[in-house]
Amino acid sequence: MATQRILDFLATRRPSGPCLVVDLDVVRDNFRAFEKALPDSKIYYAVKANPAPEILRLLAGMGSSFDTASVTEIEMAMDAGAPAERISFGNTIKKERDIARAFELGIRLFAVDSAEEVEKVARAAPGARVFCRVLTDGEGAEWPLSRKFGCVPAMAVDVLRLAKSLGLDAYGVSFHVGSQQTDLTAWDRALADAKMVFAKLAEEGIMLGMVNMGGGFPTRYLKDVPAAQAYGQAIFDYLSKHFGNSLPETIIEPGRGMVGNAGVIKSEVVLISKKADNDNVRWVFLDIGKFGGLAETMDEAIRYPIVTDRDGGEVAPCVLAGPTCDSADVMYEKTPYPLPVSLTIGDEVLIEGTGAYTTTYSSVAFNGFEPLRSYVI
Ligand SMILES: *Cc1c(COP(=O)(O)O)cnc(C)c1O
Repeated sequence: MATQRILDFLATRRPSGPCLVVDLDVVRDNFRAFEKALPDSKIYYAVKANPAPEILRLLAGMGSSFDTASVTEIEMAMDAGAPAERISFGNTIKKERDIARAFELGIRLFAVDSAEEVEKVARAAPGARVFCRVLTDGEGAEWPLSRKFGCVPAMAVDVLRLAKSLGLDAYGVSFHVGSQQTDLTAWDRALADAKMVFAKLAEEGIMLGMVNMGGGFPTRYLKDVPAAQAYGQAIFDYLSKHFGNSLPETIIEPGRGMVGNAGVIKSEVVLISKKADNDNVRWVFLDIGKFGGLAETMDEAIRYPIVTDRDGGEVAPCVLAGPTCDSADVMYEKTPYPLPVSLTIGDEVLIEGTGAYTTTYSSVAFNGFEPLRSYVI
């Protein structure tokens, strides 16, 4: 939703060209909602969702920790005021020299999902804490993060045993149930796997202490999603179900759920046309597309709410496309998007729920279009 502050900003500043406007008040509310929903979990904001310095500074000041994926993200979190103890290097795919650099900067918490990566961490960050990521099926998520990250639980046991034998602190298990996850039972299955790894290693005298429950918390696009409170309750119930009275330390890594609903993209209609006189579907071309920041429309995965000044009247299905000279730059075609019949070239539209995964995904200068401009207010 566009907040009044965002609408006022757009009305008074009238920025030209497509841009994202993020309302920090919404980010602040989201952080508090996570704290309230999962009071015993530490929050590691997933920096990749939106690394704007204003957002990082706000969250660092509120006591957030940070999940980072590169040395640059680590430095951004530190520049925002986060001490190294509150930063994890959560990428399971790291160059050894980047691990060494992170260690030099004071980072002591690293993600792994293979024996090969453990060996790198053991060499470049001796004695550090590691957690092993287990695979999840991504079932129920609109933007799955499956297959590429994590290993099967049985292998996680071997990876953590190796970590211990190489002098690392075998600290815990992590998972990510897939982004924009609206099926709460996904955490049930993942926590069952985590418990299995804990139990197997405990038999060998290796006591893990932490479960990193990842991100996946949704933002509202066109469909309603459960509130943070419902997620918190469900996750707490599953934790108790699998771990009983000996609850581990827990971490969550919200990205989308922290910033998605805090941002709105302002865009302009560049062209409305048809491919044949008798076509009943119009093509609507915006000044932003897949290469300008809306990459998550890939496979039409994320369907953003679009608001126009002409809402309320008759609508008709449109193909929605971006302005670049690449035929992949089409957002919605398989499932056309209903837009007002009276929509006209030059109209401004607001694309809501775009605070996450937009600025970071926009290309540098494809066709000469500048990267998505962003205002944090
Ligand atoms: C991307 C990512 C997140 C954030 O996921 P969301 O679904 O946006 O909350 C959290 N943890 C890791 C390791 C990630 O890669």
